Amino acid sequence: MPDRPFVIAGGGIGGLAAALSLARKGYPSIVLEQSAKLGEIGAGIQIAPNAFHSFDYLGVGDEARSRAVFIDKLRLMDAVSGEEITHIPLDEPFRERFGNPYAVVHRADLHDVLLDACRSNDLVEFRTSHGVTGYEQDGTEVTVFVRDRDPVRGRALIGADGLRSSVRAQLVADGEPRVSGHTPYRSVIPTQQMPEDLRWNAATLWAGPRCHIVHYPLKGWKVFNLVVTYHNDAPEAVAGKPVDKSEVRQGFEHIHPRARQIIEHGDNWKLWVLCDREPIANWHEGRVVLLGDAAHPMLQYFAQGACMALEDAVSLGHNLEAAGGDVESAFAAYCRQRVPRTTRVQLESRLIGEYIYHPDGAAAILRNSIMSGRSVEEYYFRLSWLYGGSGIDSPVQSRLNVPGG
Ligand SMILES: Cc1cc2nc3c(=O)[nH]c(=O)nc-3n(C[C@H](O)[C@H](O)[C@H](O)COP(=O)(O)OP(=O)(O)OC[C@H]3O[C@@H](n4cnc5c(N)ncnc54)[C@H](O)[C@@H]3O)c2cc1C
Repeated sequence: MPDRPFVIAGGGIGGLAAALSLARKGYPSIVLEQSAKLGEIGAGIQIAPNAFHSFDYLGVGDEARSRAVFIDKLRLMDAVSGEEITHIPLDEPFRERFGNPYAVVHRADLHDVLLDACRSNDLVEFRTSHGVTGYEQDGTEVTVFVRDRDPVRGRALIGADGLRSSVRAQLVADGEPRVSGHTPYRSVIPTQQMPEDLRWNAATLWAGPRCHIVHYPLKGWKVFNLVVTYHNDAPEAVAGKPVDKSEVRQGFEHIHPRARQIIEHGDNWKLWVLCDREPIANWHEGRVVLLGDAAHPMLQYFAQGACMALEDAVSLGHNLEAAGGDVESAFAAYCRQRVPRTTRVQLESRLIGEYIYHPDGAAAILRNSIMSGRSVEEYYFRLSWLYGGSGIDSPVQSRLNVPGG
């Protein structure tokens, strides 16, 4: 049954990238999305060179680059002193080194790039208002159960249904995600509303004790994306709840006024409580496999969750082609290729949160000493394992013979 479609649960960045990757190898798919409309909520997202390598592989690199703002640097500020600790230049030598830029882009724009490419490909079919509840499989096909609808049959099932994946719930059965207790508040403001002396062409991180602030320009500099995070041990997962400014101010009394004022400039703040999961060694069983946040949900401190979902999609298409369409061996090869890399990003994201974003006292002094003492070359070298990859290989890594940063 060579033409039987793959069924993809979830039409987020990961699910659409998977559909596109399969289509480019000649495989049809049906994307089942629980929402009535395909789209992305939220605001900005940072996109590293490895994600652009993936976009290039999927044939939409130019479209993705055309929606992005190319920032000059990643800037690390001490939120207590108000001083810069260090910055990593993202100019031509960076782009040449990693073969692509580092950029910031609106999530909806990124999703649109993938959606447009999928819509113009006859091999991708969409079904909205289709919430996947579970599946059954035999040796030849998968039956996917959908809330209040007839089941959908396909050659295999790809669970790209995010942090609370119902496919993962059945495949791995590892319960609820781990609540981190870190609470980001997000706002998008017109550029004129951003203090003039902070209108930097940078992804800026103000790192303070148990809190941090991130800002960068978006949408051709029309708006600024603000994310203000407080490690307040929030006990429950929350996504996108509107909150008053007075709530956002709590936990930032101890930081420098230059950083704190950013809260006053934000509007329409919304709250999330971040979750991740413990990495797992295997994401597939027979003809069912996980991808993106369903497989490896991570804290946002490396700004790599969507980048990893894109890489997964590249790897999946590549391994299916390499296995001549033999689903089970392709899924096994995909997991072998992806698990070490995504596990590293999941675990390092936690460490970065603790030791770079939120340390206090002596640990903060140590951070400043180490981070300010590193040369640009050292930063590039240390990031090679991550930014040099595309999901199927690490060209920069192999060129430089970097064992892993
Ligand atoms: C504050 C914050 C900042 C971030 N910043 C960055 C960043 O700068 N760079 C970066 O790369 N990543 C970042 N991320 C991570 C990134 O947003 C995610 O990793 C990425 O969106 C995951 O994509 P996904 O398609 O796997 O999952 P999702 O985006 O969660 O998409 C899942 C889709 O599946 C649908 N769905 C869910 N359940 C079902 C079901 N049962 N049946 C059918 N459909 C279903 C959902 O409606 C959704 O459309 C950030 C995350 C957060 C929280």
